[in-house]
Amino acid sequence: MKPRVWVFVEQEEGQAHPVSWELLGKAQELARDLSGTVEALVLGHEVESLAREAFAYGAERVYLIDDPVLSYYRNQPYAHGVVKLCRKYQPEILLLGATTLGRDLAGSIATALETGLTADVTGLEIDPETKNLIMTRPAFGGNIMASILCPDHRPQMSTVRPRTFPLPESDPSRQGEIVREELGLSEEEVAVKRVDFIAKEKTVNLEYAEVIVSGGRGLGAPEKFEMLRELARLLGGEVGASRAVVDAGWISYEHQVGQTGKTVRPKVYIACGISGAIQHRVGMQNADFIIAINTDPQAPIFRIADLGIVGDLHQVIPALIEAVRKAKS
Ligand code: FAD
Repeated sequence: MKPRVWVFVEQEEGQAHPVSWELLGKAQELARDLSGTVEALVLGHEVESLAREAFAYGAERVYLIDDPVLSYYRNQPYAHGVVKLCRKYQPEILLLGATTLGRDLAGSIATALETGLTADVTGLEIDPETKNLIMTRPAFGGNIMASILCPDHRPQMSTVRPRTFPLPESDPSRQGEIVREELGLSEEEVAVKRVDFIAKEKTVNLEYAEVIVSGGRGLGAPEKFEMLRELARLLGGEVGASRAVVDAGWISYEHQVGQTGKTVRPKVYIACGISGAIQHRVGMQNADFIIAINTDPQAPIFRIADLGIVGDLHQVIPALIEAVRKAKS
C-alpha cells in the first residue's frame, strides 16, 4: 500500500478555507518524496462539490463523510469522523490548517490516536533516509528553528498557518476517486448544540491582503498609524504592525504580523520603523517584494528587503502618499 498523505479540508457553510488548498500543494511534494498518494478529507453536509475542488488542487482521492450532524463545526462529531477514517485507512501524514477550527480539531484527533502533533509549522519535508516527516517550527522565542520528528506513531500530524505555503495552481479538469464513509454518530450522541451563531465582524484581512503597510515602534506615536492607513487605502491594502506597538496598545492584536501574530504573503510588504527581529520576519519573509523604511542602515529588516530606504519615515511616508496620489490622478 502506498503511504497516504492526508489534508483535512476545512469548510464553513460549504466554503473551503484556502489554507486547505495551500496544504494540498505541500502534500503533493511530500507524497512525491514518499512515493505516496495525496488524499483529502471532506466532512460536512452537502459538501460534495468540495471534493471536486480538492481534485483540482491536487488530491487523487477524497474521503467524504456527508451527514447532517456535520452541518456546522463541533469538535466531537468532526473528531469522531476523522479518527474513524484514520483508524481505517492508516495515513502516514495528516495536515490541518492552524486556524481556530484546525487547532481545536487537531488536538482532539492526536489525543484519540495517541500520536504527536506539531503546531504552527513553517516547514515540512521528508527525511530521505528514514522517510519520516521533518516538521520545522520556531522554538525558544523564535531564536532557533526546531526540527520535530514523530518516528514511532502515525499519523505524523501538523497544523500549518494560512499563507505559510503558496497556493498551488488549480486544474479543474483533474479527476479523482471519492470514497464515501458513514459518520456513525447520531445527533442525540453529540453533547454540544448550537443555539445561535453570531458572526464576528471581520475588519482586517491580513493573511490574504496583497499589499500590507506595517508600522513599528519607529512610528513614535499611535496617531502616526493614520499615515499608514492612508497609504494602505491608496494601495488597496491593509495595515500591519509589529508586536512592540501592539503590546504598547497603539493598534489591536489582529494587525500583528509575526510568530505570535499572523503569517502573511502579500505581493508588497512595506515595513515602516520596524527593526526586523526574527519573530517579526518569520511572519512576513515570504512576501513577494519587501520595502523597508528605517533610519538605521544596520537594521536587520534590510537583510531581507528587496528595496531599502534609509530615512525618516515621517518624511518618506508623506512623500510616498503624495507620489501615489499623483500617479493615480
Ligand atoms: P524596535 O525593535 O524598537 O524597532 C524600531 C525601529 O524603528 C528601529 O529599527 C529604528 O531604527 C526604527 N526607527 C526609529 N525611528 C524611526 C524613524 N523616524 N523612521 C524610520 N525608522 C525609525 N514581534 C513581532 O513583530 N511579531 C511577533 O509576532 C512577535 N512575537 C514574539 C514572540 C516572542 C516569544 C518574543 C520573545 C518576541 C516576539 N516579538 C514579536 C518581538 C520582537 O522580538 C521585537 O521586539 C519586535 O518585533 C520589535 O518591534 P519593532 O521593530 O516595532 O521595534
